[in-house]
Amino acid sequence: MSVVIIGAGQAAAQLIDSLRRRGYAGAIALIGDEGLPYQRPPLSKKYLAGELGLDRLQLRQSSYFDEQRVELRLGRRATAIDRDAKRVELDDGTLLNYDHLVIATGSHPRRLKMPGAHLTGIHYLRSLTDADHLRIEAHVGQHGVIIGGGYIGLEVAATLRQLGMEVTVLEMADRVMNRVVAEPISRYYEREHASHGVRIELGARVLALQGDTNGRVSLVETDRGGIKADLVVVGIGVLPTDGLAQSAALACDNGIVVDEYCRTSDPAIFAIGDCSNHPSAHYGRRIRLESVDNAFEQANTVAANITGTPTKHDRVPWFWSDQYHHKLLIVGLADGHDQTILRGDPANHSFSVCYLREGELIAIDTVNMAKDQMAARKLIASRMRPDPNKLADISIALKDCG
Ligand code: NAP
Repeated sequence: MSVVIIGAGQAAAQLIDSLRRRGYAGAIALIGDEGLPYQRPPLSKKYLAGELGLDRLQLRQSSYFDEQRVELRLGRRATAIDRDAKRVELDDGTLLNYDHLVIATGSHPRRLKMPGAHLTGIHYLRSLTDADHLRIEAHVGQHGVIIGGGYIGLEVAATLRQLGMEVTVLEMADRVMNRVVAEPISRYYEREHASHGVRIELGARVLALQGDTNGRVSLVETDRGGIKADLVVVGIGVLPTDGLAQSAALACDNGIVVDEYCRTSDPAIFAIGDCSNHPSAHYGRRIRLESVDNAFEQANTVAANITGTPTKHDRVPWFWSDQYHHKLLIVGLADGHDQTILRGDPANHSFSVCYLREGELIAIDTVNMAKDQMAARKLIASRMRPDPNKLADISIALKDCG
């Protein structure tokens, strides 16, 4: 038996762990175009701030892979999948045979498409190398312009402020994180960033980037005028890395289409993590999630399926974001809600927003609310139908709002 994994990120690391824990004794090969698997979340936070070293970023040390008998093919890209021969080709010509192939290629940043997008000093943040480049250029007193007020934009804004930079965030929508949180949360974070000296411009349209004589970005041109920039960070979302799957004629539609067992249109091939588009029985539709938790859970599901325990993947997703000392946790998916209820007062720096659809709790955003955070996933999974009056009363525990 042989399992080949393409993509050496969080999903891959968890899959290896889970396979061996379940007693899988066959061969495992791991292909990745970077180094050993590492955690990405700290790249915009503690790693960028210089508070966390590479040793703590790595998910496993190299000795672990020896112990687990994993054939590492790092610094290499998979270039083709021959489904008939059940073989993967690498960019150095190596051919690897598989019984089960797992695609865990993740996602990659959406790029700016406008005049000046090629200038130096324009950063995207996805990899360790990206974070290292940004860290080198982050100088006290200089001005960083961030395009996109999503997770990356806001986390990087907080960290660059901590590093002593002047920071402006340009967000196209009328509030930050507008697709992922409710309005009170957006407004809370806008105030917090302002209080830390970050300038946030909402409804801002970036038209072009201008450079100096050395080809380095110096000005961001918006529909309201120019903003001086010593560096620019772009965080305008990610796209699933599914090119290899497409070339192999696997079904793809906003990611690699998988069934509830994380199996692609080829039964010998699974896809997990950011690159996979899976059915959610809980939400009754297909979803593609960009979260560590999803990578972790899908990896466990696939390990169970490879080792002979048919297992469906259907979890309530959760996401988190750390900005300054505030903990934002988003549990569930809010799309389609018809009611929101605020628990607590943002002025107290600890509150939640609950989303209901036809009376059912479908999602919660919580800020510094440890108790709600712990209860939320279970309650959403159980399709709780809370009493809205109780829900609005912060003195009643979330679990007692039914
Ligand atoms: P994101 O969270 O999807 O946010 C992108 C933001 O940029 C959105 O608010 C979007 O507004 C805005 N935008 C898009 N085009 C723009 C433009 N031309 N000018 C100005 N604003 C624009 O994506 P991200 O921040 O790039 O993060 C990428 C991924 O990194 C996430 O999806 C996640 O996988 C990962 N990540 C996660 C965390 C976390 O969970 N804590 C932290 C960092 C990164 P619209 O919504 O109106 O398009």
